[in-house]
Parts: sequence; C-alpha cells; structure tokens
Amino acid sequence: MVKYELPPLPYDYAALEPHIDEQTMRLHHDKHHQAYVNGANAALEKLEKMRQSGDYAAIKAVLRDLAFNASGHLLHSIFWPNMSPQGGAEPQGSLAEKISHDFGSFADFKAQFSAAAGGVEGSGWGILAYEPNSDQLLTLQAEKHQNLTAQGARPLLVLDVWEHAYYLKYQNNRGAYIEAFWNVVNWPDVAARLEAARRAAGR
Ligand code: MN
Repeated sequence: MVKYELPPLPYDYAALEPHIDEQTMRLHHDKHHQAYVNGANAALEKLEKMRQSGDYAAIKAVLRDLAFNASGHLLHSIFWPNMSPQGGAEPQGSLAEKISHDFGSFADFKAQFSAAAGGVEGSGWGILAYEPNSDQLLTLQAEKHQNLTAQGARPLLVLDVWEHAYYLKYQNNRGAYIEAFWNVVNWPDVAARLEAARRAAGR
C-alpha cells in the first residue's frame, strides 16, 4: 500500500512574516496538514482491510474520508511551494501571457481570484487551475477540500481560506489575509506548474 507523507515546508516557519505569521504556519503545517495525511492513510488502510475481508459495507463513508483527506493533503502540498519569502509582484513570461489571454489582464485575474477566495462559503480554497480539455485557466472555489472542482483541471495556485489559515493574525478579516497573500505568491512555481500541465496535455 502506498502511503501519503507530509512534505517539509520549503522555507522556515517565520519566513513569510509579516504576511503569514510563524505560529499559524507551525500549526497549519505540523498539525492540520499532518492530520489530512493521517486521515488519507487511515482510509487507505480501511480499504485494504475491505479487500482482504471482502466486506465493502462501509465503502461510502471511507471514500468520503479519502476524498476529503487526500484532497486536503494534495492542496496543502501545492499551497506551501506556491508561497515564498521572495514572492509577490506579478508573473512573468508565458504565465503572464496566459493570464492576460484568458482573463483580460493580471488586474482582472487578481480581482477575480480574490473574489473567488473571499466568497468561499465556510471553509475552502480559492484555486487557479489549468483545464486541459479547453487549454484554458479557470478560477474555482473548493468547499472544504474536495467539493466544487472541475474534474481534470489541475490546480496551479491555491489559497487556503479555512479559518485555521488566518484567524490567529487576521481574526475574521479574510479579505486582509487574501490581500496579504499576494505579497508572497511564488510566481515562478505557478509558471512551472502551468508549463508542466500544458506539456502533459500536449499543448
Ligand atoms: Mn489548511
């Protein structure tokens, strides 16, 4: 059985200060993200036992757990490298061209992504994804981690708007947290993800 593992943060816990605070990063990475890894592995273990016993009576609940926890793990694994202490400003090169082509301008994209993240109902994510069927970028919301996706669209830039991502520093002001996020976006990482996704799609 393949197991999920918690990836290390690609920078120090305090590296994104003052935009994202150290205590939030410690709890968020070490406790919350670890819990999704553990939850996904627990679901995989239950599935292995089901195969051995032939008793699949509980499969619906287990697959619900797997979708929630695996999606949580995978989105956080993109979220950490999507940020950098050297981040911010605007994307360059082919990513900048694709954003302008698909959204009109970077400013239009930024407003749309911020609105998407700000408008998530309850806990979830704002997502910029590449949809290979139409070769275009989409903004999406995820409720919790797994609801409202476009199947097959690959997340390139994700913003966690669960309260655990911002409440210690920003309390109920999700908008201020979203505004701060733009100061740490690692655009070269986003550009590399777009390049890989388009290559995989044969575009
Ligand atoms: Mn989170």
